[in-house]
Amino acid sequence: MIKLSQPQIPEVAIERVGEILRSGQLVHGDECNAFENELAAYLGAKHALVVSNGTAALHLALLALDIGPGDAVIVPDFTFTATANIVEITGAKALIVDVERSSYNIDPIKLIDCIENWTGPEKLKAIMPVLEFGNPSNLNTYREIAKKYNLSMIEDAACALGASDEGTMVGTAGDFGCFSFHPRKTLTTGEGGALVTNNTELFQKATLLRSHGMERSSEGVVFKCIGLNYRLTNFQAAIGRAILPHLNNWIAKRQELAAHYKAKLSSLIESKLITIPEVVSGHSVQTFMIVLASDFKRSDVIFELKNKGVEANLGAQSMSALGLFLHQKNITTSYPVGQELYQQGLALPLHEGMKVEDVNIVVNSLDSILKKL
Ligand SMILES: *Cc1c(COP(=O)(O)O)cnc(C)c1O
Repeated sequence: MIKLSQPQIPEVAIERVGEILRSGQLVHGDECNAFENELAAYLGAKHALVVSNGTAALHLALLALDIGPGDAVIVPDFTFTATANIVEITGAKALIVDVERSSYNIDPIKLIDCIENWTGPEKLKAIMPVLEFGNPSNLNTYREIAKKYNLSMIEDAACALGASDEGTMVGTAGDFGCFSFHPRKTLTTGEGGALVTNNTELFQKATLLRSHGMERSSEGVVFKCIGLNYRLTNFQAAIGRAILPHLNNWIAKRQELAAHYKAKLSSLIESKLITIPEVVSGHSVQTFMIVLASDFKRSDVIFELKNKGVEANLGAQSMSALGLFLHQKNITTSYPVGQELYQQGLALPLHEGMKVEDVNIVVNSLDSILKKL
């Protein structure tokens, strides 16, 4: 079976985890501090904070920015559900904006339209763009829009560690950048995540919120605010530290495989049986998702691919199609792109352990299935 994704764990990570388990230092500790420094250096960010998962990173960012009941935050239609869920969990409203067909990221024109036409009653506080599947497109544009309209910006960069838009590392353009280290992402620690910021005050707030609002002082522990426990363990941080030095090579390998996919898929593209995303420079290619023409039933294609030993799946959800967030005011807005991507998107196997020959097998299988169906 050619797997959709396959977490790569270097042997040194396994050794380090063993050492740490034997040392007894299991919760937040030296490995976490070192991983934070290394992540901040890798991204060129002032501060990094490791947390228990990507959703926790988004939650801390929203809480640190005092976003809650009475507020609204713009999210893209096409993303993993956590993006909209976490906004709503704080008591704020998730305002859904459709995405671009070429990048799958939030459409800048529709974003401006939503901002300019928002009449409340909630106060529009922030935008939360997603760099979908590692595509960095429009990152600098989103930053300019946030600045122009005086909104906070939280990047949901959960699947985009290592991507960059014209020299700006994904995660460093807004007030906060949030990453996930789930096994489906390129760098994994099992569960895990991080948030980065260049704002020291916001960093201190998020740090307190991460660990029960607790701070150590010479007198012991003081409780400075109401907080949570979103800490990462020391042994998970060790896994992340062992992977980080490989990340750029892995991304290069992923870009190479994506380019090969693009070349091999040209006949299916020309026959208008599929479309593929633009593969821009700086893309970290966490997922390679094509879009099937509307007459194909995706579940049939997934089933046929499985029979040929190829794992495939849908790419992400449409927030409007899920029906969970429809109490909001912009219910009359339509989401043609996000809903099409949700219906017809097909994620194909792509990970750094794959070979060019594997891509050939996937494309040949897909070719025979689509030309027969
Ligand atoms: C994976 C992902 C998340 C959630 O990350 P977890 O670590 O699973 O909590 C959120 N947003 C996006 C866009 C993701 O891809």
